[in-house]
Amino acid sequence: MPATEQEAIIEVALPCPLYKTFEYLAPLDYSVVAGMRVEVDFARRKMVGVITAVKAESEYPREKLKSARAVLDAAPILSDSLLALATWIAGYYHAPLGEVFQLFLPAALRQGKALYQAETFYQLTEEGSLWREDVTNRQARAKLAILEFLKIGEFYAESTLVSAFANFKNHRRELLDWQLLVASERLDDEIDVAKMPATERPLQLTSAQQQVVDGIIDKQDGVAFIEGVTGSGKTAVYTEIARDFLAKGQQVLMLVPEIGLTPQFVSRIEQSLKVRVGVIHSQITDLERLQAWRDARLGRVDLIIGTRSALFTPFSRLGLIIVDEAHDGSYIQRDGVRYSAHNSAIKRASLENIPLILGSATPTYESVRNIKEGRFTHYQLPSRVSGAMPEWEIINCHEEKVYDGISGKVLDEIEATIARQEQVLVFLNRRGFSPVLTCLDCGTMLECDHCSSYLNYHRTTGKLHCHHCATRYPYPESCQNCGGSSFKELGAGTQKIEKALVDAFPQAKVMRFDRDNVRNSRDLESHLAQINAQEADIIIGTQMLAKGHDFPNITLVVLLNSDGLFFANDFRADEKLAQLLMQVSGRAGRGEKKGKVLVQTMFADNALFNELPKIGYHAYAEKSLEIREILALPPYSNQILVQVEARSEAEATHYLSGILSLMPAIEDVEITPVMPNNLKRRQGFYRVHIILQSESRASLHRAAFQLRLLYEANIRTGIRLLIEVDPVDFS
Ligand code: ADP
Ligand code: ZN
Repeated sequence: MPATEQEAIIEVALPCPLYKTFEYLAPLDYSVVAGMRVEVDFARRKMVGVITAVKAESEYPREKLKSARAVLDAAPILSDSLLALATWIAGYYHAPLGEVFQLFLPAALRQGKALYQAETFYQLTEEGSLWREDVTNRQARAKLAILEFLKIGEFYAESTLVSAFANFKNHRRELLDWQLLVASERLDDEIDVAKMPATERPLQLTSAQQQVVDGIIDKQDGVAFIEGVTGSGKTAVYTEIARDFLAKGQQVLMLVPEIGLTPQFVSRIEQSLKVRVGVIHSQITDLERLQAWRDARLGRVDLIIGTRSALFTPFSRLGLIIVDEAHDGSYIQRDGVRYSAHNSAIKRASLENIPLILGSATPTYESVRNIKEGRFTHYQLPSRVSGAMPEWEIINCHEEKVYDGISGKVLDEIEATIARQEQVLVFLNRRGFSPVLTCLDCGTMLECDHCSSYLNYHRTTGKLHCHHCATRYPYPESCQNCGGSSFKELGAGTQKIEKALVDAFPQAKVMRFDRDNVRNSRDLESHLAQINAQEADIIIGTQMLAKGHDFPNITLVVLLNSDGLFFANDFRADEKLAQLLMQVSGRAGRGEKKGKVLVQTMFADNALFNELPKIGYHAYAEKSLEIREILALPPYSNQILVQVEARSEAEATHYLSGILSLMPAIEDVEITPVMPNNLKRRQGFYRVHIILQSESRASLHRAAFQLRLLYEANIRTGIRLLIEVDPVDFS
């Protein structure tokens, strides 16, 4: 026992863009452990931070340290493995730790609210279970409905009852007074027991599926990659593997891409497993997120299905992580903390010492390399559960006549398909009516005032939209450059193709499916339901429709103008296009009837169009990897993007060149010249970047770290430096 008790010194990560933690004195009457939240004064404000370390001494004299105002948790709110994950993300992605913690905590906890509230719980009494009243009375009927919902012996939280019965509070008083219910207060923090999954399987697995399930259940460690063609039944495989882990009393986390998470998908899995499922995605409310977070932590849900941000959910007995459509770009966050949920999931599984399953029809080339070199155990589902893979045809735009962006050959095939009462999906990755508006007199193309991009004409609003910032402009009356008053709409977006197809097939029902008319999950649901109910003959869709969904009656898929990728200054163009072609064609012929894919292109002789259909995705990826290896491009080297944003291009370039010239040379790191981004101005900021590249991750990180230090020592107002590790998009 020390003679005089001294306050412990705590290191605290605070939500601010500084790459450091801050020291405070812990209040005497609290015991403190890393992972608890504290409230402190910082820059004359109250802030909530996370304790990252507790120590006896500081290099500063004690009297210089401020005391924390309060410790907010009685026990760590984040487990050791989540603290380790946050620390890893901060280090690997060069992000301030305090900002990384913001990803881990729901809003209420970031604001310092208590993790557990005392809540009122209700139990059904014996009398309550026997209560029968005159049910012709509406009030009595409502009470009876509540009582019938409850089972004797169980506790029901008030919040549960309110969400099940909107009128619960109107009846509560009487139900208690008549002793049909009893209420009790308790702190809602008890860890719940697992709910065992149903043992019977709704589907008889194919032997290929069964082999994958057995293989993964036997092995139970490391990373498994399930490479299964579209329609090969990966979801059933995940579900059966999950069933095995759930039956051991463990929890399962399943990550899906933004657009793959539909209520149908969730309910199919819920129906099959019959366990408690929680859902986390970007559109739930803060309260729902907090509830799901607490439920997972307390073991009150057995399975969490969610998008990127669900990776940071705490669990009481996590046993397995599944990442569906592992190649998907939505696992990468490009705002705020720039991280990959895919790579962070691999890290989390290894920290928690649990297995991880990745699944896709089109693994990234990096995954193909990891498979080849044995870092991932490879499992394959080479054919569809039912039906064959579609046949492909490449349509050369130089040889075919093209009307309004659609070739005669494509129109013929569409006509034949809808005549057979089958559906057509026309895929085009550009929304709006036309991507450019030009003055017929002087040729000026209209640009956004804030971004270096052309304005898209939208026929639905009659306005010009910038797709990079949300600005909309009225359709111009006259050209700002020459005063001319006639304009031409160049190029084709989904709205123009919609009009062209309505004109060409006036009898057909044409549906447009893009971000302009599918804005939320409710729109998504209703559009998907309409497609399945055959209420659309021709569906025009963007990337949103390329993923995951199952439409048995779509037998023709048309890919219009995917050529844009060839012009992008991006060594992954070939990989992205190969994935897109496979994913889009995966929508064709998922039912009994055989499907067909038409690809309309100006580059019909490109090797990709000729080889991919012949040798298949995996072999094509392996061949492309040979070229990457010769050129020492990722995954055979590593890259970090360093971007500077400023109010003028000269200022941005000057700043980045300036700190580069101060950087000590680091062996084995190549640095590109300072270049403007493809989209060099965005929302009023000019953006320039360099790419650091090295075969040695350690050297690369050292270089990025040096630049970060130089930036911190040279903060200028109006200038921002961003670091993105493993960048995949250089726009
Ligand atoms: P993937 O995700 O691999 O593209 P899905 O999991 O969506 O494929 O499965 C494709 C279709 O096959 C779905 O309609 C699914 O219900 C069905 N399916 C999967 N496994 C089986 C099976 N063993 N027996 C019958 N139908 C199955
Ligand atoms: Zn803009």
